[in-house]
Amino acid sequence: MIQTTKLWIGGKWVEGSRTEPLQASYGGECLAEIRYASKEQAVQAVIAARDAFREFRAVPAHRRSSILYQAADLLERRSAEAAEIAALEAGKPIKAARAEIARTVQTYLFAAEAARNLRGETIPMDAAPRGEGRRAMLGREPVGVVSAITPFNFPFNLVAHKVGPAIAAGNSIVLKPAEQTPLSALFLAELFEEAGLPDGVLNIIPGSGKELGETLSSHPDIAFVTFTGSPEVGRQIRAQAGLRKVTLELGSNSPLLIDRGFSPEELAAIADEAAAGAFAYNGQVCISVQRVLVHEEHCEAFTELLAERARKLTAGDPLDERTDITPLINARAAERLKSWLERAKEGGARVRCGGQFDGSLMMPAVLTDVPENAELSCEEAFGPVAVVSPFGSWEEAIAAANRSRFGLQAGVFTKHMEHALQAADRLHCGGVMINDVPTFRLDHMPYGGVKDSGSGREGVRYAMEEMTEPKLVSFRSGFFKG
Ligand code: NAD
Repeated sequence: MIQTTKLWIGGKWVEGSRTEPLQASYGGECLAEIRYASKEQAVQAVIAARDAFREFRAVPAHRRSSILYQAADLLERRSAEAAEIAALEAGKPIKAARAEIARTVQTYLFAAEAARNLRGETIPMDAAPRGEGRRAMLGREPVGVVSAITPFNFPFNLVAHKVGPAIAAGNSIVLKPAEQTPLSALFLAELFEEAGLPDGVLNIIPGSGKELGETLSSHPDIAFVTFTGSPEVGRQIRAQAGLRKVTLELGSNSPLLIDRGFSPEELAAIADEAAAGAFAYNGQVCISVQRVLVHEEHCEAFTELLAERARKLTAGDPLDERTDITPLINARAAERLKSWLERAKEGGARVRCGGQFDGSLMMPAVLTDVPENAELSCEEAFGPVAVVSPFGSWEEAIAAANRSRFGLQAGVFTKHMEHALQAADRLHCGGVMINDVPTFRLDHMPYGGVKDSGSGREGVRYAMEEMTEPKLVSFRSGFFKG
């Protein structure tokens, strides 16, 4: 029998306002009937979070930490089940889904540690003549109710990057997961309930982003909005959030720069990593390799190495151990990529491999000669596409990498220290990974973008900084008795 879900509000499972079927992106089978929250229920969740925050803010750090350790432990024990949920609802190949769950456990462990290490500083008030006789400390306080809106592509780990730091800092949360991945989010309710999280601290309301977005960005009891998703939605959230703090983790079309001077073996090793960076989970990764800039000395050979690897990938059922490539998340994503591919070809692009469609499944494509103004060069593909272009000088490569409205992460392979330093200084993005692909991310590392890739940082400790406010307390001597 097909499961019907509920909403998790104030520590209780409650009925939603309407029901939508959740279909597997591979095979289209109905996985569950999902109860969606109405706007009124979104408000109820915010109120439940507000009320829970009044007590949770006083829960000591060691207790918050042990709840997070417990949740990490429970997730690890149930990791096979969790990976299967991500594989089914997000259509993520099971190998990639397992890797995501292992990372999610790490993210909660980092949050558990960070909960016990939220530190402040003392301020030398007497550095100013009028400050004599005073001493001050700067601590950090939880912001209050965190509204978290998440995408489909890492349904466990990107949720953990919001829920973990929020709990670690002493906040309460209302989480609205992506329409395609409600089951991964609801799974968390069970874990945190068992881990002893007080009622109302975590509220999970599956529902439509369009319907609930405004409430979840602008309700007066929300102190902070954290969003991961597309730049278009990010812009709306920023406009609706008004003066409150917002973190936006948006898209990109990440560049990978490959310098001259590599041996054939080294080039092959770089191609292995580039293929994984471009095609893992069908390129539906915000830091997927998209624009590959290769020194002209290596460009032809590298293109062939990358295409060779793309041709070997196996498409199929996400639950099959051999599967690398699965259908894109929906037909709309496939139609968009198909039309971008056609327009690039009309502009003179050469498809060196892949690019065939079977329904929503797209075979991984390596392209050259893509015009600079084609969508595949300047927009976010969010699909299995690598666009390879040659460069003559390092200056040219850096300028080409920066010709983008996005700036999340860049990857650089070089043997020249000067080139590495120039890339580090001049690439305009949130992170430069020298001798790694842009797709490289660890969960404690500060992570976020510039330009249309967003603002604010995640990576547990950095997210906690965003989710807390500094508070100064100054003590003046001379008035105390005794
Ligand atoms: P999306 O923007 O379509 O949806 C993300 C979330 O926003 C979903 O929960 C959705 O329901 C909600 N939403 C939709 N319309 C809304 C509205 N008007 N108001 C409020 N919420 C609304 O993105 P997606 O397709 O799920 O994910 C893909 C995008 O996410 C890509 O652009 C990708 O690069 C980006 N992403 C960024 C990061 C990062 O860390 N920078 C990580 C993963 C994905």
